Amino acid sequence: MPRALITGITGQDGLYLSELLLGKGYEVYGLIRGQNNPKYDLVRSVVPGVQLVTGDLTDMSSLIRALNVAQPDEVYNLGAISFVAYSWENALLTSEVTGKGVLNILEAVRLYSQDDPAKVRFYQASSSEMFGKVQEVPQRESTLLWPRSPYGVAKVFGHYMTINYRESYGMHASSGILFNHESPRRGPEFVTRKVTQAVARISLGLQEHVTLGNLDAKRDWGFAGDYVEAMWRMLQQPEADDYVVATGETHSIRELLDIAFRHVGIDDWAPLVKQDPRFMRPAEVDLLIGDPAKAHAQLGWERKVDFVGLVTMMIENDLEEQRALAGR
Ligand code: NDP
Repeated sequence: MPRALITGITGQDGLYLSELLLGKGYEVYGLIRGQNNPKYDLVRSVVPGVQLVTGDLTDMSSLIRALNVAQPDEVYNLGAISFVAYSWENALLTSEVTGKGVLNILEAVRLYSQDDPAKVRFYQASSSEMFGKVQEVPQRESTLLWPRSPYGVAKVFGHYMTINYRESYGMHASSGILFNHESPRRGPEFVTRKVTQAVARISLGLQEHVTLGNLDAKRDWGFAGDYVEAMWRMLQQPEADDYVVATGETHSIRELLDIAFRHVGIDDWAPLVKQDPRFMRPAEVDLLIGDPAKAHAQLGWERKVDFVGLVTMMIENDLEEQRALAGR
C-alpha cells in the first residue's frame, strides 16, 4: 500500500487530495499545525481515513518527525499562507511559511531519505501568482516569472528551491504551477466563495449587498477536485518536472456574479453589488491565463468541470449551507 504525507491537510486541496489518494488505496498522513487546530474536526469528518501528525512548516524538526511517522513514498507540500491580500499585511510571515517552509520540507525529505533520491517523490504547490506582471500570454512553464505580491515572491523561492533539489540532489521533486482553483471548500476570504456565499445569503434575505474590489479582474478558474488529480499524476511520472495546470480560459468577477445571481433568479444584480477600493490589490496582476498543453500531453490530464459547472456547484452548496445555518 503506497503511503503519502500531505502538508496543508486542513485546506481545500488537502481535503480533495486526501479523498483521491484514499480512493486509490493509499495510507494517508496529514500534517496539522497548532495544539488545538479548529479544523481538526473538519478533517476527521470529511476524511476519517487520514492519520494526523502535528507539525509546522516553520519547524523543521517537526517535519522530520512527521516523515519518520508517515514513512511516505510521496510528499505533497500544500501548506502555505495562501491568500494574496493577507500576504501584503503579513509579508515576513508569508516568506517564512510559503517560502522558507518549502526549503524546510525539502531539506527534511533529503535528510529523511539519507540522500537516496528514489526514496520519496515530492510535489510542490507552485502558483500562477508567480507570473504576476505577465511577460507572455498565455503563461507556460518557460514564461519569465515576475511576482507582484509577497505571496508570489515566496512561491517563486519555493519553486526554484524545488527545481534546485531536483537538479542538485536528483530528487524526484515536481512543481505544479496551478492557476486558481475553487470549490465549495474554498475559504470564504477568496473572491469566488465570497460571491457565492453572499449571493446565497442575499437570495435568502439574510444579507443586503456584497462589497467587492475590481469587477473586471479576470482569472483562469478551475475546479480543485480536478486539479489534485494533476498533482498525483505528476508524481507517477518516471521523471520529475514542472507543469502548468489551468483551464486555458478566463472569466471576470462580473461573469461570476452574473452566473451566481441568475442561478438564484436575480437578473438585475447591479444594485446589490458595491465596490470599495480597499478590496483592490496594491499591485494587480495582469491577465493570468495558463497554457496546460504540457499537462494534457505528458500527464494525460484534462479538467472535467467547466466554469458554469463550478459556480453552480458552489452556489448550490452555499444555498444549502446558509439555509441550514438559518434553520430553514
Ligand atoms: P488553503 O489556504 O485552503 O490551505 C492552506 C493550508 O496550509 C492549510 O491547511 C493551512 O493550515 C496550512 N498552513 C498554513 N500555515 C502553515 C504552517 N505554518 N505550517 C503548516 N501548514 C500551514 O490553500 P489551498 O488548499 O487552496 O491551496 C493549497 C496549496 O496550493 C497552497 O500552497 C496554495 O498556496 C497553493 N495554490 C493554491 C491555488 C488555489 O487557487 N487554490 C492556486 C495555486 C497554488 P491551517 O488550517 O492550520 O491554517
